[in-house]
Amino acid sequence: MTIVTRFAPSPTGTLHVGNIRTALHNWLWAKKTGGRFLLRIDDTDAARSEERFADAIRADLAWLGLHPDGEERQSARFGRYEEVFRDLVGSGRLYPAYETPEELELRRKVLLGRGLPPVYERSALHLSEADRAALEAEGRRPHWRFRLDHAPIEWNDLIRGPQRFDAATMSDPVVRRADGSWLYLLPSVIDDVDMGITHVVRGEDHVSNTALQLQMFEAMGAAAPAFAHEALLTGAEGKLSKRLGATGVAEFREAGIEPEALVALLARLGTSDPVEPIVDATVLAETFDFARFGRAPARFDEKELAQLNARIIHHLPFDRVAAALPQGMSAAEWEAIRPNLSRLAEAGDWWRVLHEEVTAPIDAGDGEYLASAARLAAALDWSGDPWAQLTAALKAETGRSGKALFLPLRRALTGLDHGPDMHALLPLLGRERTLARLSRT
Ligand code: GLU
Repeated sequence: MTIVTRFAPSPTGTLHVGNIRTALHNWLWAKKTGGRFLLRIDDTDAARSEERFADAIRADLAWLGLHPDGEERQSARFGRYEEVFRDLVGSGRLYPAYETPEELELRRKVLLGRGLPPVYERSALHLSEADRAALEAEGRRPHWRFRLDHAPIEWNDLIRGPQRFDAATMSDPVVRRADGSWLYLLPSVIDDVDMGITHVVRGEDHVSNTALQLQMFEAMGAAAPAFAHEALLTGAEGKLSKRLGATGVAEFREAGIEPEALVALLARLGTSDPVEPIVDATVLAETFDFARFGRAPARFDEKELAQLNARIIHHLPFDRVAAALPQGMSAAEWEAIRPNLSRLAEAGDWWRVLHEEVTAPIDAGDGEYLASAARLAAALDWSGDPWAQLTAALKAETGRSGKALFLPLRRALTGLDHGPDMHALLPLLGRERTLARLSRT
């Protein structure tokens, strides 16, 4: 059996970190199992769906490296939904209902007032042909409900374990509005059936939808996919935050977060596996396992992401970053400066240190010491490890050690007190630049 997963965003906005996580988990599961990962654009709501959001979703997935193996869109499938609709009306699983929202709200209040659960009482199911004709003659158009089978609904959730709902305590869900437009529930099931979806991975806010949808699979005579409902993300402060819902790829890019960092964090957050700076997503796929997910909300901490981002950058190969580096930066330069970066954009600072004149003043007390350094540096074998040779010779000649030995050199050569390993940096500066910087007064 080929595993098929799908990520099904509505193009009514850009992806936020919670959606990105869901997309990633669907992708990882397909990768791990050699399956297929589909992008399904849930655009049945014509008024709220916008093409620019569909484009942005595709671009965000591409940036993350989550390339779908196929794309579907619901707006292209209305004909098929109509077909299933007719079948389900024919088999009595869909029925027309005529209550207005105000009437339904009133019923709800009455039931609640009596201490009863506000479950739809199926009044519409008891209408006769003549009742319906009379309502239609009044100008009423029906919306359509799915008639639940009043039996227990059970499934074994890949993350939450055994789940049980009692259909008798649930309202027959509305699946189609009076204007003919679709609500989310039924088209999603039709798609999952037609597209051979084997695993539905989504947030736990969909758990009760799953109970309803399981009966829809049954009504269509189709086997249901496996379900994995993940605990939602919270902000660092442990609450569902508005900010989290507004943070997407644009904000991460702006903050200098690399896609590998976001992927490495979101692949493991909320699982019992440690978050590690894993650049290779196939490794994340191999270790991905629903059984390792916890049921408690996972905390998304931007500080943790920033730290992971730095650790990821320290592993990124030159080919991956070359286009984002200052023009002309070499692989050796990248490898020398990489451990000092927390964001890729900082490479420009080190480019300037390497290639532009250093203007930071030399400490007056170091003049003589640096003159000795310049004299010794001129005589070094620059093909070996010039830094080791220079500092050994200076130590022997001046008796200096530790900070007194190293810091004036680093300052003179880079204008800074900290930075890349001088063993790596000195050959990159080369003889001429080194002599010039040590000899400046
Ligand atoms: N469009 C739905 C949503 O974004 C899809 C849910 C699902 O994965 O079935 O909530």
